[in-house]
Amino acid sequence: MAVEKIRIGIGHDTHRLVVGRPLFLGGVRIEHEAGLAGHSDADIVLHALTDALLGAAGLGDIGDHFPDTDPAYAGKESCYFLNETKRLIKKNGYQIENVDLIIHAQKPRLSEFKPIIRESIARILGLDKALVNVKAKTGEHVGPVGRQEAMECHAIVLLIEMRDREDQQ
Ligand code: MG
Repeated sequence: MAVEKIRIGIGHDTHRLVVGRPLFLGGVRIEHEAGLAGHSDADIVLHALTDALLGAAGLGDIGDHFPDTDPAYAGKESCYFLNETKRLIKKNGYQIENVDLIIHAQKPRLSEFKPIIRESIARILGLDKALVNVKAKTGEHVGPVGRQEAMECHAIVLLIEMRDREDQQ
């Protein structure tokens, strides 16, 4: 059996919650009394995912490519980072095989938003939504997430090296 070259990548992000900021998760605007603080739109889901993709391809991290000290990225929509990363991954000969995410938020309850976030990420990455999985957890009222001081996201991705796939045909 032919073995394809696969690469795994992990990403994580945390942002503080502040009243009066809009909340974006996975490119989806979610109505809530507080949003995430940050230089860009502070979308922890897209930041964690961008880092996972860069990591899998051996291309460093989001801060290397889009530094938060650069005024060009102030208030930037995070789908820009993910789109640019998707382009970079492809240029380096990789195809995304699947994506799995865990969003940690005490409030709001994310169960009703999971399908919309899944569709949003699948659309940004140009993937079938069956290849994108979104999970949500509360902080059980402990720690920064549980006390509603922050939200976090973990992301993991698998890439396949396209050159190998072509070689095997
Ligand atoms: Mg971030």
